Amino acid sequence: MKLGSVTLVGAGPGDPELLTIKAAKAIARATLLLVDDLVSDAIVALASPGARVVHVGKRGGCRSTPQAFIEKLMLTAARDGEVVVRLKGGDPFLFGRGGEELEHLRAEGIDVSVINGISAGFAAASALGVALTHRDHAQGVVFVTGHTQRGGTATNWRALARTAHDTGLTLVVYMGVSGVQHLQQELLSGLPGDTPVALVQSASLPEQRMFVTRLQQLADTVAREKVASPAIMVIGNVARAAALASDAMQMPGARATAA
Ligand code: SAH
Repeated sequence: MKLGSVTLVGAGPGDPELLTIKAAKAIARATLLLVDDLVSDAIVALASPGARVVHVGKRGGCRSTPQAFIEKLMLTAARDGEVVVRLKGGDPFLFGRGGEELEHLRAEGIDVSVINGISAGFAAASALGVALTHRDHAQGVVFVTGHTQRGGTATNWRALARTAHDTGLTLVVYMGVSGVQHLQQELLSGLPGDTPVALVQSASLPEQRMFVTRLQQLADTVAREKVASPAIMVIGNVARAAALASDAMQMPGARATAA
């Protein structure tokens, strides 16, 4: 029997129109789709009527499907000749375990390809009207997770804050809201308290919310406004423009907290 294949497909940040044409074609061709949380139903609806769709996220309050089980399912299906699409939020290679899945499947001799998606950090930046590397303010950008894998190396926030300050780097933090108190405390050792921070919850979706604050008030803002996952934080002087714009234009959904 002909061996199947697996494609890791980036579903983008939520708005179905931000899906690439290549991703839409791959979804339509799939015989089996494994769908993460944060992937819109409108995107899953592009699957062919005969395809099997398996949700493997935490949606509905259930515990997420164990990673080993997902990988096993993909492996078995590909060996059975299925055309498997693994639909992941944002880009498959920015957090979200795309790398692990690719390594595991390739080690088993499975044909794996990857289709980009628009990562949430980019969607957050465009929602805010913030250029992540505006050359008046930043020399580069760091995409970093606020959540460390159990047993993994903890991020050295103090070193990162110093480097961001000295070099002029924008920090785009994924999965950061639950640990925001610690994050704020650590970052303040290297970045000034009045460093602008912009927060975007549910970027690109109808329920999108945006807030602009300062590093020294970050945790308070998150608590007061009940900012919840999924959310992106953009930390650095590039967010200053968002602070000003939100004052000037009264952006819908945006609120600048007093510095
Ligand atoms: N691969 C994904 C990231 C997966 S990690 C990507 O490239 O976007 C999941 C985290 O992504 C969430 O905790 C949140 O920090 C961020 N995220 C995903 N979708 C988001 C959205 N629509 N708005 C804001 N943050 C989002």
